[in-house]
Amino acid sequence: MTERPRFTNEELSAIYERTSGKCHLCHRKLAYVNYGVNGKRGAWHVDHSRALANGGTHRKNNLYPACISCNLEKGTFTTRTARRWAGKSKAPLSRKSRAAAKVNNALESGIAGAGIGAAIGGPPGAIVGAIIGAVVGHSRNPDR
Ligand SMILES: [Zn+2]
Repeated sequence: MTERPRFTNEELSAIYERTSGKCHLCHRKLAYVNYGVNGKRGAWHVDHSRALANGGTHRKNNLYPACISCNLEKGTFTTRTARRWAGKSKAPLSRKSRAAAKVNNALESGIAGAGIGAAIGGPPGAIVGAIIGAVVGHSRNPDR
């Protein structure tokens, strides 16, 4: 019933890069070369976020990389449900979105740090707080 479409390398790598090479359900790192190789470390499938059986399509925006075990467990459950099993609410970000999100985190935490630093140590405290905040913010994993 759910005939697996053959993907070109280009399509596969686009799907893989969508989440920086992580399972969109549990966020574990996948191994690009182990696409479809069940039993290998980081083996993965292309998951139809909305299952074909539920009216999902083969279009790019419905395709995500997933561990083979996550993909099989998910079956026709919704992506939201399967992510919740793993304690996640969103797909991991692509490399590009990830870099942007980290800059945003750094800015937000830098501003918050400046406020805290100023309250403790006046203007010099604000500078130290901003730097600490920015470093902490940038190191935070933006994936949810
Ligand atoms: Zn997974």
